[in-house]
Amino acid sequence: MSTDEDSLGLSQTLSGTATMRIAGLHKIDSFYTPLEERFERISRLGKNVLGVRATGVTLIANETLWFKSVVGWRVNELPIKDSLAQPMLDSGKPLIVPDTHNDVRYVKLPLVTGKPKFRFYAGFPLRDGDGEIIGTFCAFDTKPKKADHGLDEMLSDLGQLAERELLTTDLWNAQSQLVGKLDTARRQALLDPLTRVWNRRGGIEMLEMVLQESSSSREQFAVCLVDIDHFKEINDEHGHGTGDQALRKIAASITASVRPEDVVSRHGGDEFLVILRDATPSVCKLVAERICGRIEETRVRTDDGSVAVTVSLGVAVSDPGETLSAEQFVERADKALYQTKRQGRNAATIWQDDAS
Ligand code: GH3
Ligand code: MG
Repeated sequence: MSTDEDSLGLSQTLSGTATMRIAGLHKIDSFYTPLEERFERISRLGKNVLGVRATGVTLIANETLWFKSVVGWRVNELPIKDSLAQPMLDSGKPLIVPDTHNDVRYVKLPLVTGKPKFRFYAGFPLRDGDGEIIGTFCAFDTKPKKADHGLDEMLSDLGQLAERELLTTDLWNAQSQLVGKLDTARRQALLDPLTRVWNRRGGIEMLEMVLQESSSSREQFAVCLVDIDHFKEINDEHGHGTGDQALRKIAASITASVRPEDVVSRHGGDEFLVILRDATPSVCKLVAERICGRIEETRVRTDDGSVAVTVSLGVAVSDPGETLSAEQFVERADKALYQTKRQGRNAATIWQDDAS
């Protein structure tokens, strides 16, 4: 789909629409929130259905495109002017660009002239309840791709799925009670850029909030430490890039194995801290088995094939009759994790008084 110079004039309308976009975002405060399986699922589905290299769901604020979810491309955010979305946002209509090299709007764009050298782009605008554009569903490839019959329909279906998830406010961010206490800037500082889950400080802040809440609600919850088995070997044998990819895949697998209201954070190098809400020891056992099983099935791509990874878990379940600090919970989970490692890995141990 080529275009002429005239259409570039559309960008002059941007400042007006940008203000509307920012206003719209206040209604859906989802900027800088952690990985959520419901959006990961749409991105994965989009990548497979469209047969492209990468897809994502983005949100817009302050002339920035932030990727709420992305598969196949390592990116967290971009200025809109450097992204492929600008012409689509200016027109407000879905856009399919079969070959960026044949489109005057894209030929000089750094993402086209330099890495990842995108040749194909498709974008669908996501709107809030008032019709204002608040994000995009987007697809990319490094090869040109024909706009075959049905591509526009698939793009529209996927876009509408993403939009529906964004607008499902009653479900919106099941961690909202916790997340709502943090403003956007604070949230940005609490996310891990590699895995897109909370970082160590984020996880601990969430745990402090859960502790506070549970002191009045008497909710039983659990703190799990998930540590990758023999991770050094993956780095040493396949390189740091493969190690990073394993970390991203494991963060996504853990997120997919727990409920939306549970908290996932990267606690250290190859260690994740997970807070299971409203969880009894038997639920914890089930979830731990699910995490181990799902990760065992995950293959991490390497230069010469793929490699399997496993994780070990240590779990500390709260006892409504006992008051512990965040540090004490993590200490217990760590002791249980040590036990799992000693007993052979790829399993979980629930902390008990005599576990140490
Ligand atoms: P164990 O089964 O006992 O846990 O063995 P392990 O090899 O996993 O040992 P350990 O947990 O001590 O190793 C953690 C490794 O994680 C060491 C470090 O090089 C690696 N690592 C830490 N941060 C990163 C990162 O951001 N990217 C990559 N690729 N590796 C990292
Ligand atoms: Mg490890």
